Formats: sequence, structure tokens, C-alpha cells
Amino acid sequence: MSALAARILVVEDDADIRRFVRLTLEAEGHEVFEADGMKRGLIEAGTRRPDILVLDLGLPDGDGVDLIRELRAWSAMPIIVLSARSAENDKIAALDAGADDYLVKPFGAGELLARVRAQLRRHLHQTPSGDTEIHFGDVSVDLIKRHVERQGQTVHLTPIEYKLLTCLVMQPDRVVTHQQLLKAVWGPGHSQDMHYVRVHMGNLRKKVEAAPSMPKHLLTEAGIGYRFVA
Ligand code: CA
Repeated sequence: MSALAARILVVEDDADIRRFVRLTLEAEGHEVFEADGMKRGLIEAGTRRPDILVLDLGLPDGDGVDLIRELRAWSAMPIIVLSARSAENDKIAALDAGADDYLVKPFGAGELLARVRAQLRRHLHQTPSGDTEIHFGDVSVDLIKRHVERQGQTVHLTPIEYKLLTCLVMQPDRVVTHQQLLKAVWGPGHSQDMHYVRVHMGNLRKKVEAAPSMPKHLLTEAGIGYRFVA
């Protein structure tokens, strides 16, 4: 068993994919529970109390996005959704509803395990470590003093850039959608202003990334949003 062995619930109606996911996760030492539909998935989530949910969006008895909404009423467990390549809007709806990450079918075992590890790390770090300083690359962010340094030198961020940065760094390894960033940084009423995010993200990267055109920490999720990786 690896140090990060977890209880994982897989909700997927396709028996082959479900089996592949189960075998992959079990080989890594995780304990896996299965459900083949939304109703069963909710029951399993309530009774098994898994550490992570791996969720297919297209289920025979409902929409995975609805399952996320119901689950988020009482649980903060990490949710990784599985989606078809053609279902871009479903993926965004799932992230907006509170999913943490997604995998596009077909995906490989290595990819699945990496995403699960990232969510477990994030979940463990989130439990009340109370870190008020975040470090990535040669940058440190002091969340109390609202101060950002790079190689020991103060980085001058605009208030928007600072909000954008903290919104991402406080949710490491999580895909944050354009909508979520607009709401968090600009407030409600700016949901159409996607270009704001792009422009300010470009400026922010110039200040905190070593190679702004090939960012290592503030990553683009094409068509969806951004992801911070420490
Ligand atoms: Ca399906």
C-alpha cells in the first residue's frame, strides 16, 4: 500500500471502463467501490464515505452534474469527472458545479493515477495546516501581508492580479473555470467577460513565471480555465 492509499468510489455505467479504473486504482493500493448509475452512486457516496469520487457524466439514470450538486450539499470530497471529448460544455458545467478535475476519455492508467494523487495531496494539504505562505518556483506569496516576492524582490501586482493569483494558488491542482475566476475576482455580473481573465492572466504570468509563454505554475486548461501547480 502506498502512503496515499484512499477509498475511492467509481460511478460509471460502462462496465469496461469501470473495470479498467478499478484495476488501475487497486494496483496502486486504493480501496475501490463501484456504482453503475446516479442513484446507486449517491447511496454509495453516503454509506462508504470515500475520499475521492471518480464520476462519469453520462449516466443512464441521470446527469453526473446533478450528482455533483447533490453531493456538494454535504461533502467536500474531491471529484474527478470522466467525460467524452465531444462533451466540452458538460465538463465545464461539472467544474462549475464543484468538480475538482476532469479526464477526457480515452485516458491512460498513468494519467488517472496522477490526477488521483494530485487530489489526495491537495485534500491532505487542505486539512487545517493553516499555511499562510505559498511557494512555487522562485515566488512566495504571503497571504496575510498580501505580499508577493520573487527571488527576494517585491513583485508589484495590481489588485486584480493579486486576486487572480490567490484564487488559483489556494486551490492547487484544481481546474478553476473562467466563470469561477470571473465570479471570484470581478464579482457577479461579469460572466461574459472571459477576455478580462485572459488579459490579466497574461500580465500576471509575466510577473511570476520564468517563461511566461511556457508557464510552469499557472497552467491553461484550453477552453475551460486555469490550474495552479506548485
Ligand atoms: Ca456513461
